[in-house]
Amino acid sequence: MKKHTINGILSSPFGTRKDPLNPATWRIHNGIDIAATVGTPIHSPINGEVVATYYHNKGGTTLIIKDLKGKIRLGFCHLQRHTVTPGMTIKKGDLIALSGNSGGATTGAHLHFSLKTGGTWSDGEYVGGKWADPTPYLTY
Ligand SMILES: [Zn+2]
Repeated sequence: MKKHTINGILSSPFGTRKDPLNPATWRIHNGIDIAATVGTPIHSPINGEVVATYYHNKGGTTLIIKDLKGKIRLGFCHLQRHTVTPGMTIKKGDLIALSGNSGGATTGAHLHFSLKTGGTWSDGEYVGGKWADPTPYLTY
């Protein structure tokens, strides 16, 4: 029985979509949106390490993690708060954050969940990677 990274409803898939904040324009959506009540637990779908936590004016409270081999970067935006700090080792199933509605680029409580793959880490930045559909990481 697989476990869920977050219990919620997919509200916007990965790829090209109409910008929800400006419906006249089409944009690449670099992740997926999961509608979930503020305070919904988010569990790590991977064994890895916390890379960064920060506040971004659009993405709100944000958490970045990587897998142990450093092959992928997973991002979680619009959080209520994160429960881990940079440098921490995390295991599959660990509570890492609570979802929220923080930041400017949101039209309702949800998690923006993103994946970058194919790059390498340099000074805490993921270099040369490409955005990919994180749906496989919704369960673990
Ligand atoms: Zn999104």
